[in-house]
Amino acid sequence: MRVELLCTGDELVTGLTTDTNSPYLEARLFELGIKVSRVVLVGDVREDITQALREAAHRADVVIVSGGLGPTADDFTAECAAVAAGVPLVEDAGTLQFLRERAAKRGRELTPNVARMALVPEGSEVVPNPVGAAPLFIVGMGGCRLFFLPGVPREYRALVDGEVMPRVRNELEKRPGRTYRAFRLLRTVGIPESVLDARVAPLAAAHPRVVFGFRTHAPENQLKLMAEAPSQAEADTALAAAEKAARQELGLAVYGTDGDSYPGVLAKLLTEARATLSLAESCTGGLIAAQLTGVSGASNFLLGGAVVYTEPMKTAWAGVSPELLATHGAVSRPVAVAMAEGIRAECKTTYGLSVTGFAGPTGGTAEDPVGTVYCALAAEGAPTRCERFSIAGDRDLVRLFAASYALELLRE
Ligand code: ATP
Ligand code: MG
Repeated sequence: MRVELLCTGDELVTGLTTDTNSPYLEARLFELGIKVSRVVLVGDVREDITQALREAAHRADVVIVSGGLGPTADDFTAECAAVAAGVPLVEDAGTLQFLRERAAKRGRELTPNVARMALVPEGSEVVPNPVGAAPLFIVGMGGCRLFFLPGVPREYRALVDGEVMPRVRNELEKRPGRTYRAFRLLRTVGIPESVLDARVAPLAAAHPRVVFGFRTHAPENQLKLMAEAPSQAEADTALAAAEKAARQELGLAVYGTDGDSYPGVLAKLLTEARATLSLAESCTGGLIAAQLTGVSGASNFLLGGAVVYTEPMKTAWAGVSPELLATHGAVSRPVAVAMAEGIRAECKTTYGLSVTGFAGPTGGTAEDPVGTVYCALAAEGAPTRCERFSIAGDRDLVRLFAASYALELLRE
C-alpha cells in the first residue's frame, strides 16, 4: 500500500513550526509494516495545495493531509480538495449542527467563519472530531483515498488513532501477502554505543526475523528490535526470543522498555522500597531534582535537597567543613562523600545523593580536568559509596551525564 503525507501551512515552510504530525503517523504506520513513500510540506497557497493533492492522489493509494481546516482566512484545504476532486463544496448538516451546539455551549452565536468548517467536498465521508471543531473528511479521487485532518497536533493524533489507523488496518487486512511486525525498544544507561553494538550484533544470526537497530539519545543508548513475519503470532514469538537474548547480554544496563523513563523507573524502585532520598547538587544545579520531580508522585520518595553551587553553601546547607574544602577542593571524593552524608543527615532520608564536578568549558585541575565528576551515595547503615567519572562533551552533556551517573548509584 502506497501512503503519502501532505502537511499544509505557512508556519511549516517558514521555520516557525516543525512538522511533528508526520513523524507521529509514520511511526503508527510503520508498526503495520507500511513505510510512508513521501512527505510533502506546502505553504498556504491555494494553487500549490490543489496541485500537491492531485499529484499525491495520482501516485498513492492513501494520502493523509494535515492542516488548514480551521476557521481563519488561511484555512482553505477543503476548498482545494474540492477543486482537486472536481466537485463542489457542500454543507455537511451534521457538522453544522455540531458547530452550532458547540458555539451555544460557549455562549456564542455561530459566526460565518466557524460555519465554514462544515463545508466539505461533495461525496465526502465526514467523521466528527472528538477533541476539536473541524471534522475529518475522506475524499475518493481515482483509486486513491484522501483523509483530511486538522493540523492541531492534539486533534491530528486523536483522529489518527481513532479513525485513520483502524481504516488503514482494515484496508490492509484485505490485501494478500501482508507482513506483520512487532517492536521492542530496550533502553540502556551506562553502556557506550560501541559496547552495545559489540554485544548485540552477534545475536543477529540466531534471530533472522529480527532487525537490531541502535540509537543514541543522551544520556541513554537504545536498542530497537523489530520482528517481521507472515503472522502476528510469529512476529511476537521472534521478538520475545530476541529480547530475551539481548537482555541476557546486557544485564543491568537495560533499565526499561518503550515508554519508560530513567527517572520514572528510579521513582518506582524507591517508592516500592519505601525509601526516601535527598540531593546535594553542585555542577548539575538541580537537574537531578528536576528530572525526579518530573515524575508524578515524586514526593513519595524525594524529600528535598539543595543546589550547593559554591563552597560557602556546601558548608551551610550540606555540612561540608571549610577545612575539607580547603584541603581537597570542591571537586573531590571527600567533598562528594561529605555532601551526600551531610544532606542525608539534614533531610533525614534513607539515601543522600551528591554530585560535584567540573562541567566546563573552563576550570578543572591537572588531576581532575573538565568533565570530571564525583557522585556519592550515603545510605542508612552502610558505608558511603563514591564514584569518579570522566565525561567527554560540552557543558550540557557533562551535566546531563553527571545526573544520569549519579542516579545510577541508586540503581546498583
Ligand atoms: P485550526 O482550527 O487551529 O486553524 P487547522 O486544521 O486549520 O486548525 P492549522 O491552522 O494548519 O490547522 O494549524 C493549527 C495549529 O497546529 C498551528 O499552531 C500549527 O502550528 C500547528 N500545526 C499545524 N500543522 C502542524 C504539523 N504538521 N506539525 C506540528 N504542528 C502543526
Ligand atoms: Mg488554521
